[in-house]
Amino acid sequence: MSEMTSRYRLIKSTLPKDVDLVAVSKYHPVNAISELYAVGQRIFGESRAQELTEKSKVLPKDIEWHFIGHLQRSNVKHVVPIVALIHAVDSFRLLQEINKQAERCDRLVPCLLQIHIAEEESKFGFTFAECRDMLKAGEWKNLNNIRIDGLMCMATNTDDEAQIRNEFSAVNTFFKEIKQEFFTNAENFRRCSWGMSDDYGIAIQEGSNLVRIGSKLFGERNYL
Ligand SMILES: *Cc1c(COP(=O)(O)O)cnc(C)c1O
Repeated sequence: MSEMTSRYRLIKSTLPKDVDLVAVSKYHPVNAISELYAVGQRIFGESRAQELTEKSKVLPKDIEWHFIGHLQRSNVKHVVPIVALIHAVDSFRLLQEINKQAERCDRLVPCLLQIHIAEEESKFGFTFAECRDMLKAGEWKNLNNIRIDGLMCMATNTDDEAQIRNEFSAVNTFFKEIKQEFFTNAENFRRCSWGMSDDYGIAIQEGSNLVRIGSKLFGERNYL
């Protein structure tokens, strides 16, 4: 068994049954994806439209591709025909564009709303207030080719575990609040996408059911 496969088995064995794993394969080659596919992994996460397009062309059709990165509106048309879930929707305009492109290819595209919780300026997403306002405005209900399946967030990049826990916990509380207010009978509104290689243990304790793990699985990324 290769080192990657044993890392995969180890991670899988620690995940509770109701937590899904997104294997974040960005910047890693097709053969690494094939190897995990061969041992049963089906959900892979990418963050660049072109890389996703190229990989999806040559890999098995039953892979569930998740787009996890910041998505520009100009790239939506490339991503929509391929993806099973878009994690990081950070504006109503982006949601509208996803809907428009999804309508063109006659698809229903599940989306998560990204919440900005980290201290860093650089991270994208709605504040709680912005997200609540967008949902209250109600226009999203007219977008028939998208479905809002939950929330996504990234914690501050810090060693302070208490801070990371507080951030995930706040998003989890917010998830429950908006589920109650806007998605009471929506069975599909159930995805809590938080937790990466360094913090997925805390994330699961704080309600995550979709973890996005890259480097712990594939090794360090080579950004060229
Ligand atoms: C790259 C990336 C990950 C994976 O990060 P690791 O620390 O390598 O596990 C998870 N989520 C998002 C949004 C990413 O861009």
